[in-house]
Amino acid sequence: MARHPARDARVFLFHAGAYDVERIRSIVRAAMETLDLRPHGRTLVKPNLVAAGELFRHAHTRPELVEGVLRALQDRDRDGAMTELAVGERSGITVPTRYVYEEAGFDGVFARTGATRICFEEVPQVEVPLTHEGRLRDYLFTPEPVAKADFFVNCPKFKAHPWTTVTFSMKNYIGIQDDRHRLIDHDHALNRKVRDLQFVVQPQLVVIDAIIAGEGRMLTPIPRNMNLVVVGNNQVAVDAVCCRIIGLDPLLVEHIRLAYESGFGPVEASRIRLEGDVSLEEAQARAKGFQVGLVKIDAYFEGTNIRAYSGSAPAGATEDYCWGGCPGVMEEVIEVLRLYDEHCDKKLPKLHLVFGRYEGQLDVGYGEKVVFMGDCCEWKGKIGGELVHITSAYKDRSTLDPHEAVHKDIYVRMAKMAAKLRDLKRRPWVRLEGCPVSIGELVLMLAELGGIQNPYFDTRQIVGFNRAYLAWRAATVAQRALGKPYQVKGPTEHGAARPVLDTSREGGE
Ligand code: SF4
Repeated sequence: MARHPARDARVFLFHAGAYDVERIRSIVRAAMETLDLRPHGRTLVKPNLVAAGELFRHAHTRPELVEGVLRALQDRDRDGAMTELAVGERSGITVPTRYVYEEAGFDGVFARTGATRICFEEVPQVEVPLTHEGRLRDYLFTPEPVAKADFFVNCPKFKAHPWTTVTFSMKNYIGIQDDRHRLIDHDHALNRKVRDLQFVVQPQLVVIDAIIAGEGRMLTPIPRNMNLVVVGNNQVAVDAVCCRIIGLDPLLVEHIRLAYESGFGPVEASRIRLEGDVSLEEAQARAKGFQVGLVKIDAYFEGTNIRAYSGSAPAGATEDYCWGGCPGVMEEVIEVLRLYDEHCDKKLPKLHLVFGRYEGQLDVGYGEKVVFMGDCCEWKGKIGGELVHITSAYKDRSTLDPHEAVHKDIYVRMAKMAAKLRDLKRRPWVRLEGCPVSIGELVLMLAELGGIQNPYFDTRQIVGFNRAYLAWRAATVAQRALGKPYQVKGPTEHGAARPVLDTSREGGE
């Protein structure tokens, strides 16, 4: 069944020599005119702000691009049909979105354009029932502004991704959930989760920041000047074209294939109308040799003090390797620490990391430490003469209820990690719980073990981070105290069912 709006899939490739707001504004406005698109009602723009700041400057959609898009939307508004213009996001690695907006330079954009800033973790979450075949669960939660958006604009960054090969348009939807719900199914089923999120909302407009794209990694990508802005009206088609730009078959990217098979749009070149002032061949020349990386954890740490042992995924897993879970989290943690300390790899002590159900021996020398990663980890054997038996604490996804998802306080996590580190001083192994293990906890542990600058305690950021974190928690408490039920209209044109009020809880941990 075709789920995308009944219109041609059109993708535009435009040249942009720099982050020039006026050039981006005219590009987007021209594309909207060609597509006969005008914003209306609640208009919501979703950038990719996974992380920001000096060390993450190529990880996120640049503010100039979003400002150009906001200006173009204002240009195309007719007779005040656009009743609200907002930008919404939930950033990653547990950092408050309000802090990331500030670090990424978005506060000036809000001041200049009058657009509303929305931090998705600070607003009510609503339940969206799912009924499609092959879904991971019967409902999921999304922030109220996403569920209520009348005109949705997706503004991702053009990047490689170590867990899903690429992150273009569809993968940007991981940021339309708050932390509690984002981590559910963020494991071996990550690509299927991305597909399921497509049923929440489909954008009328996609504008991808490929002016400086991100190669090789997601959080700390290598900048690649491509001087492109990719615009389109169907995100399966947009993602397919982006794949072709880097020489990748779109059907080899699982979440693109799944969305295509679910009827969200075409991947075939013959079904996508390509326009703009840059040809596909020219775009491909600009992207020649673009690195994407699905690198398994064992190979990733070759030549370092860390040795990874990758066992099998839990029974019932959709894939035998957990790309979206603990191994991927671990790779990102190391990338972050390397940014903060160029001697990170040398400073880290000999460490053995065990993932999944591992049945082989661990080659542990005197004084070396072993970390058993995540709920699904299983191992039995001797470490330093002690018989160690790690049993699986993995819970099948059918037993997890998103209604019960709770916020996990970062200060509580830090305290728990401090206890784990005390354990590790007394004995050569420790087990980290979680599915997946928290990126924040891993950063804390490895920074401590390696004597590396802890990013969360970086003096350049600590005041701003703590201020933003406490403001977020205070805003959430205030919002809960108001506790007004509301109605969300539906179903939408893409077939999502009627969302209902969130009943999920805040928790102390
Ligand atoms: S515990 Fe980690 S490795 Fe295991 S299934 Fe969960 S996310 Fe994947």
